[in-house]
Amino acid sequence: MTELSLHGLTKRFGSFTAVDGVSIDIPDGSFVCLLGPSGCGKTTLLRLLAGLEEPSAGRISVDGEDVTGTPAHLRGFGMVFQSLALFPHLTVAENVAYPLSIRGTPRDECRRRADELLSLVQLEGMGGRRIHQLSGGQRQRVAIARGLAIEPRLFLLDEPLSALDANLREHMQVELRQLQQRLGVTTVVVTHDQKEALTMADIVIVMDKGRVQQVGAPMEVYRDPANAFVAGFIGTSNLLPCELGEGEITVSGRRIALDPGDRVKARPGEAVLSVRPEDIRLSADGLPGKISFVRDLGESVQVLVEHEGHEITALYAPGARPEVAVGETVGVEFVPGTRVVLPA
Ligand code: ATP
Repeated sequence: MTELSLHGLTKRFGSFTAVDGVSIDIPDGSFVCLLGPSGCGKTTLLRLLAGLEEPSAGRISVDGEDVTGTPAHLRGFGMVFQSLALFPHLTVAENVAYPLSIRGTPRDECRRRADELLSLVQLEGMGGRRIHQLSGGQRQRVAIARGLAIEPRLFLLDEPLSALDANLREHMQVELRQLQQRLGVTTVVVTHDQKEALTMADIVIVMDKGRVQQVGAPMEVYRDPANAFVAGFIGTSNLLPCELGEGEITVSGRRIALDPGDRVKARPGEAVLSVRPEDIRLSADGLPGKISFVRDLGESVQVLVEHEGHEITALYAPGARPEVAVGETVGVEFVPGTRVVLPA
């Protein structure tokens, strides 16, 4: 069963198109990350889903029901905003139960649900506190609990973790994912952080300039990017101009035979070669380059190689650290089967 379907969803502000003909089917219970650079239309798309913005064209349906014209408060969706939008004059429990109380839920029932939700987000016993008495991570949990109060059929979050410091953020990414898995609620999260998307999502939707560039499982998008934009935006990618021929590519005048495992998405002629840093090997007869930087990152070693004006990034496990020094001339090879040839 398809839970959420978007058909040609478009939003124009005057002559500017912020969301441009988005069509996607999302299965029930998925955790979806909307990912893309600033201004690509992620928030606008989420607001269209929420009913906070009216589409210029297109349709949204949930469980087969067309909700395009349904007002936000009647859609049965939960929402967490980037600003959290918690009420300072209410207690934590009152904040959490707010969506229920404005729907006329009896006070006892509100209290019971608030307790239940607070324990779900690991804030047992904090219901009586005020928002200013909570840490950033705790506030985040309150906002998440409030978003879940009405048992939403769709849970929408706009950069919910962006205000947190790096450690807490990583912790909350895992927590949010576990919570979603436990509840099974279809969830759409806006983020501009690709690592966050790869950590949490079943499905990543990569957007640029209002358009969907690729939809897929995180590893699919990472391993098999649809175009150079996606390859460059998701993870670190080495992008080199090349010429695609019959069963081979030419990079900097050197012919490299393609392997059956390599993915070719370009037409013959000018193209772009994309290779991930972990798929770069240094060898005497690769493309000539000069080591420009070696950086120990603890869990990995990063080696930068300058090749004809391009900086190629290679990544190694600490045990596999190549014996190279800055300034040394090396050869760069791309592991067969990992190469992706994309349209220029
Ligand atoms: P960010 O990561 O910076 O939040 P985003 O991908 O969420 O970016 P949106 O907020 O969806 O981007 O905005 C997409 C584009 O639409 C931007 O160029 C923005 O200026 C424009 N836009 C958004 N809302 C409006 C509005 N109400 N009126 C006019 N233009 C708008």
